[in-house]
Amino acid sequence: MKIHEYQAKELFRRYSIPVPEGGVAATLAEALAMADKLGGYPLVVKAQIHAGGRGRGGGVKLAANRDELLSHAEEILGMTLVTPQTGPEGRLVQWVLIEQAADIGREFYLSLLPDRESATIVIMASSAGGMDIEQTAAAMPDKFIKVRVNPLQGLQPHHIRQVLFGLAIAPGMMKQWSALVAALYRLFVENDCSLVEINPLVITGSGAPLAVDAKIELDGNALFRHADLQRYRDSNEEDPLEAKARQYNLNYIRLSGNVGNMVNGAGLAMATMDIIKRAGAEPANFLDVGGGATAEMVEKGFAIILSDHNVKGIFINIFGGILRCDVLATGIVEAVKKCNVTVPLVIRMEGTNVEQGRKILADSGLRLITAMDMADAAAKVAEMVA
Ligand code: GDP
Ligand code: MN
Repeated sequence: MKIHEYQAKELFRRYSIPVPEGGVAATLAEALAMADKLGGYPLVVKAQIHAGGRGRGGGVKLAANRDELLSHAEEILGMTLVTPQTGPEGRLVQWVLIEQAADIGREFYLSLLPDRESATIVIMASSAGGMDIEQTAAAMPDKFIKVRVNPLQGLQPHHIRQVLFGLAIAPGMMKQWSALVAALYRLFVENDCSLVEINPLVITGSGAPLAVDAKIELDGNALFRHADLQRYRDSNEEDPLEAKARQYNLNYIRLSGNVGNMVNGAGLAMATMDIIKRAGAEPANFLDVGGGATAEMVEKGFAIILSDHNVKGIFINIFGGILRCDVLATGIVEAVKKCNVTVPLVIRMEGTNVEQGRKILADSGLRLITAMDMADAAAKVAEMVA
């Protein structure tokens, strides 16, 4: 789960990671009140959306006085911000962060993320931080320091030294910078993060670090352990269909293809997406209705697939175990009757009560295409959406 910069900075403060003074505002009046409270310019106005590259898109602006602050806040609040990371449709800005502007001398990059391959937490750092970090990473990978930490052993002093020597931190400043790296590591582990990134991490006039930007992604599967972090969820930033699916306890992820699919069990869902691709088509979603799905859940899942206007055909692939084929068939028939289904529907069904299930489908009077097996179903649906 992604969170906003102002929320990430709230977490930073809890861990004594230095961030500029500031606060969030949803209206012009709140923005002015925050500016007056901070009492002094220059201030910076920052659009709060779940995407980076805001600086490039015009979502980060410096204000030298109250008039400028007002005009920047007015412009940014409510704008549809397009950045290299939002896609052409952009994102609606509902919040701005008003902060004391930092006097930026040098911009560093510092991030932590899990590396599945080595089963470590990787600390990445670079003295070439700032808005061109992606290009720097591609063109000059040697500008990055990578330090791998075994999570079972935890962060050791030699890891910190490797990072700080790499950034050429002045000896007199080592203590503060060490504390920063240690605090970031603790924040990362204690909150089950999947990413913590500071870009730019600014080195102030005194040589101390200051996190001018903050990006955190939390592991959604670990959120149940963090009651205090759940309030950071912003459903405005989520795919509306994914948010709706979560309400019904459906495991749904929207993808960019045109074959909608409904499957019970995550493993079978993965296999189904593979076989759709092998048949030359692209899945429009991942949808696992779960082993214990009810007819109602099938119906809800169906409605969600159909609200995705990219879907040109649907592949229902069910192995009836706990979810019996007759229950599933009833759910499908009800759903098709309720929703206005205008796309072809291919069904492959095996397992408990499959004969009853097939009979329910056949007797329904609906135009459903049944398949012999998975490969046959995938070929049929791929042909129909082609
Ligand atoms: P991003 O583009 O979404 O990553 O947003 P950032 O928070 O990183 O801001 C983009 C850029 O704006 C930074 O790389 C800085 O160059 C600049 N910037 C942001 N905050 C300040 C600030 O307080 N002072 C100054 N001088 N520049 C800032
Ligand atoms: Mn940034």
